[in-house]
Amino acid sequence: SLTLGIVGLPNVGKSTLFNALTRNDVLAANYPFATIEPNVGVVPLPDARLTKLAEIFHSEKIVPATVSFVDIAGIVKGASEGAGLGNKFLANIREANAICQVIRVFDDPDVVHVDGRIDPSSDIETINTELILADLQTLDKALPRLEKEARTKKENRPAFENAQQAKEILDSGRTLFSAQKEVDTDLLRELSLLTVKPFLYVFNADEGVLTDDARREELTKLVAPADAVFLDAKIEAELLELDDEESVRELLESAGQTEPGLYALARAGFHTLGLQTYLTAGPKEARAWTIPQGATAPQAAGVIHSDFERGFIKAEVVSFDDLVATGSMAAARAAGKVRMEGKDYVMADGDVVEFRHGS
Ligand code: GDP
Repeated sequence: SLTLGIVGLPNVGKSTLFNALTRNDVLAANYPFATIEPNVGVVPLPDARLTKLAEIFHSEKIVPATVSFVDIAGIVKGASEGAGLGNKFLANIREANAICQVIRVFDDPDVVHVDGRIDPSSDIETINTELILADLQTLDKALPRLEKEARTKKENRPAFENAQQAKEILDSGRTLFSAQKEVDTDLLRELSLLTVKPFLYVFNADEGVLTDDARREELTKLVAPADAVFLDAKIEAELLELDDEESVRELLESAGQTEPGLYALARAGFHTLGLQTYLTAGPKEARAWTIPQGATAPQAAGVIHSDFERGFIKAEVVSFDDLVATGSMAAARAAGKVRMEGKDYVMADGDVVEFRHGS
């Protein structure tokens, strides 16, 4: 499955957040190289629609979609030159499908900031610089080969020219993700470049920032078009210690939050990976299935079982809202709200589906 790699400078709250993500009680040490082996945290994608579906279909259980985060430790200045845990860091990032950078905006005199002060744009630049330098190394190695291939075969020219263009963007200090419109990222795929990956930013904030709309907007703009998530990692960890709803609500309220930040993080992670869900429901389970954005009905059926894709006949589709409004599948059918879709149908978010397939 697709994963987001969590990166960030030391002491920004990565371990604290990751522990909250996994509910593992790994020691969150105030120490740059605290986490060396990458770990995976698989979190449910919150989806209130499943609860509703389970009610309508009297489902025994709810199976949400999930989002996977990998803790990638050890970015330091000079990572691209193999300093510190640099090489391992870069190898781990290469395996992730998207990059989730945690940025410290909380104030705490007891927690040392590696660069001495809170400065989100400088933190972003530090990480970007290491990734850009690593990509430039990869390109510098590949360009002579691509040039030779372009000389011997005309159809290889676009790949070479595209790589040259990518180098120019990187030389100007920009990531390829931020310059998607200027390069063909598909043509770059064989090079496994790092800055092509989609980015997501998590601002680890305290109440001051969480409740300051202007500040949040400013930070959101700073990272746009990437998604921005605001949370307080320490509070996220505390929330998981609580077992009654009342205390959860009180703690959220005291931090100026209406829901746990991990919910927003799971949604943003899912979105950044280019994923969406569709829903199925019956007496056994109400379930969200993960598909790439833009997937067709047969591809969506294939996520349940590869036979469903091969033997796809049609999909019986009702939108979640229509289903809830009518109250049952039978009522939705009677009201003409259930559509029969064929193999070219592109799945929409919130589709509740039953597949017809032959075997
Ligand atoms: P990492 O090096 O990025 O993994 O950072 P850690 O998760 O180990 O956090 C470093 C220190 O900052 C620890 O002492 C945490 O308790 C503290 N910390 C993490 N998140 C927050 C936060 O949101 N607010 C405050 N005040 N402290 C935090």
